[in-house]
Amino acid sequence: MKLTAWLLPPALLLFALAGCTEPTDDLPSPEGDDVPTTATVAAEMPEGELLAQIARRSLEGTQVEVNADTLLDVIGARISALPSGDSAQAWVERRLESYGVPRVWQETFPLLAWDRREAALEVIDPAGAVDGELNILSLGHVASYDIEAPLLDAGFGTAEEIDALGDEVEGKIVLADVGSPEGYGRGVHRSEKVTLATRAGAAGFIQLNTQEGPRIPVGVATLGDEETEIPAMAADRATGERLRAALSDHDEVTVRLMVDNWMERTEAANVFGEIPGQSDEIILVGAHLDSWDLSPGAVDNGSGTLATLDVARALTEYVAETGDTPYRTIRFAFWMGEELGLYGSREYVEDRIDEGLLDRYAAILNLDVVGSPVGLGAMGRPEAEPFVRHVRDALVTGGFDLDDEMGTGGGIYSDHQPFLMQGIPVLSVRSQQLPEAAGVGHTIDDTREVITEPGISESAAVSAALLWAAANTPELGLERWPEEEIGTHLEGLGVRDPLERAGEWRWP
Ligand SMILES: [Zn+2]
Repeated sequence: MKLTAWLLPPALLLFALAGCTEPTDDLPSPEGDDVPTTATVAAEMPEGELLAQIARRSLEGTQVEVNADTLLDVIGARISALPSGDSAQAWVERRLESYGVPRVWQETFPLLAWDRREAALEVIDPAGAVDGELNILSLGHVASYDIEAPLLDAGFGTAEEIDALGDEVEGKIVLADVGSPEGYGRGVHRSEKVTLATRAGAAGFIQLNTQEGPRIPVGVATLGDEETEIPAMAADRATGERLRAALSDHDEVTVRLMVDNWMERTEAANVFGEIPGQSDEIILVGAHLDSWDLSPGAVDNGSGTLATLDVARALTEYVAETGDTPYRTIRFAFWMGEELGLYGSREYVEDRIDEGLLDRYAAILNLDVVGSPVGLGAMGRPEAEPFVRHVRDALVTGGFDLDDEMGTGGGIYSDHQPFLMQGIPVLSVRSQQLPEAAGVGHTIDDTREVITEPGISESAAVSAALLWAAANTPELGLERWPEEEIGTHLEGLGVRDPLERAGEWRWP
């Protein structure tokens, strides 16, 4: 989800190659009108031994490391609608083709593209109120500003804290720590805090990191397709401490905040591959390919991209070697625009709604931030237990270490969200990061050193088995939730509040 510019000479080569790939809307039939609908597969789950074999063979042939050499070390940060993003799209497309994935194509979508230029913060009154440097970066979807305003400490910037400050917020630059107060029960997304501060009349917003060190986590400051109404920034912990010290020493501390960014309404493209099935139903596995700009986005989401590519390789090889055709089509999706607000996946789902095709999606799996596999699950769907347990038991027998839990939890803010909000079943492969990956998301430290390539290979292997099982179990026992029941299920997942604040709650 976030990174820096690592465009070094090898990227120039990729850039040149990228010009060979045209994002088109009329490549091989995305929804497979020519796919026969007569299924001939037995109405039962694939044998456990077969699933274990698919996973073991995936692991033996893993290409996670060799793909990381290009994705993370050559392409690096992948920004939607910029040359780095275009290079990544073109590279994934060529990679899928090199694996012999039967259908490969791109679909363009519109987005509000964004890139950082400069940012600076200085205390102007009282002059000299702060010792040391003030380090800030812009959040995403912030335009250019040059303002002067007093600071106001809003704690974590939650709804309760902003309410308690009342009229004081008006005209101030609000300071708010990352995260939420102890015992608050849920995390509070930066975009939610920016929205709360904006509605209360703030002149600006600065998110303060709570971890030691120079990291400044960034990210998009809006969830909608719009720019922020105020400058929304992020600072390292030391900057936050200096500003708060000044506030405790003086009645009022006024700062000048300058920020310059690039923003443009343009297009990016999702990349797809698929193995056609016998029925018109689809099992989709996806990962967002874009990242933030401060590092190569190894964890977020190089890891998920590498895993999804490896699943595509493994299942394509399996089908080529055995001649088996899956009952359902297996589609691989590489989303762009995720970091700026789930643009790619939202547009995809909107298009399928318009075309009346969404009922074809039997289940999806989203791979965002992948480590070593821990267990399996299905968001908000205890009824998936027989299916999930069958796959889990097969993998454990095959030598994979997966826990015995049926994970039914799940949040939002990644590319499964548009599907989940339409009631489409969302499967999950739970995984664990290396300890050194803690807190690297959207910072300069999301580098190749903190990912586990063997773990990602294992997660890919587990995902390949899960997807093959999902694609070949005619009665999955997972129905799309009816529109009137989706809200209740989302409430059960604990995501009502943030969806309401984002203006996306459409149920009573
Ligand atoms: Zn992500």
